[in-house]
Amino acid sequence: MNDIETIFIDGSMGEGGGQILRTSLALSCITGKRLHIENIRSARRNPGLAKQHLSCVRAACNICNGKSHGAAKGSKVLDFQASPVHSGDFRFDIGSAGSTSLVIQTLLPALFLAHKPSTVTVTGGTHNPLAPPFDFLSETFLPAIKTAGFQGDCKLLRHGFFPAGGGKITLRVQPRQKQSPVPAPPVSMQTQVQANQAIDLCNSGQEFRINARIYTAKLPTHIAHRQQKLLLQSGLNIQNIEHTEVRDSQGPGNAVCVRLCCNKRTTVFTAFGMRGKPSEQVISEVVNLAMNFIDSGAAVDHFLADQLLLYMAIANGGCFTTDRISAHTKTNMEVIKKFLPVDFIIEQQGECFRVSCQPLR
Ligand code: AMP
Repeated sequence: MNDIETIFIDGSMGEGGGQILRTSLALSCITGKRLHIENIRSARRNPGLAKQHLSCVRAACNICNGKSHGAAKGSKVLDFQASPVHSGDFRFDIGSAGSTSLVIQTLLPALFLAHKPSTVTVTGGTHNPLAPPFDFLSETFLPAIKTAGFQGDCKLLRHGFFPAGGGKITLRVQPRQKQSPVPAPPVSMQTQVQANQAIDLCNSGQEFRINARIYTAKLPTHIAHRQQKLLLQSGLNIQNIEHTEVRDSQGPGNAVCVRLCCNKRTTVFTAFGMRGKPSEQVISEVVNLAMNFIDSGAAVDHFLADQLLLYMAIANGGCFTTDRISAHTKTNMEVIKKFLPVDFIIEQQGECFRVSCQPLR
């Protein structure tokens, strides 16, 4: 018991946000190493554990009979000790508009390594600023990790916008290793994942089919009409715009997603409307993200980039090209390296960056 290694994480490093905690929890579940984290979310306006982060801690405890100390609202220090991960039918209610995607992303890496399929249902926000919106989770993130054998399928059961929340998503996770018809001898998790393919997302497509999706909830219809018009004038060659008037939301909300489709992959960029923010700003935000990405010639957007690193590391390698090396990406690399014997290499390639991961051996 006492010879279990403890990993010390300074939550103020680099980006200083919630991802340091989520990645640490995920890797603590996978490796069984104890986690001691201090200065949690110290770079945020409301530092320490908020409801969403507490949900991540509780959810992590749930999937591996884990024990935590310091899991209280506002806490800046946490100790976490995982036991072996088990599959199951898990349900969590964040109790705020905190991001359902981020709670799911905390559990996913470990659940892929469990022996049986799991279902995870989370109540909270489904379309939140500063987090992966449901459309990104289902159309960009999950298909990207599926290329390396990490198979998860999600469904939106109810929309939840910030600040009201009340949305619900459910996700079915398959174990990464296919069950062999002949019972295999017990192997370590590391050995299991080595048997599978790595992430290789380096080639972008040449021609994108571009379409857009506008969500409005409990808002006047002229907002969507105006945003539609602005999208058509934006300079992006948008071939189709769909407007979804959300009727199951607990509060008002507005999200504009631009979807870039190429080579069977979809990259979703999203901007959010909110009270006092003109539609011009919403549209220019999302259009700029899409244009910069197209111009870079990268295969992976900078949001997906930071989220793929963990999967490259547990698959013992892989590479992708991305339009920008964000602070999230740099920080996540540092956190992952504290738990796993891997290194990340960044090389500039024209307008984009090639990121690769290699085992240290
Ligand atoms: P943190 O700020 O540390 O809580 O981490 C936020 C996470 O949400 C990071 O993994 C970001 O890449 C991700 N994220 C933020 N905005 C978006 C977006 N518009 N689309 C996809 N992912 C996002």
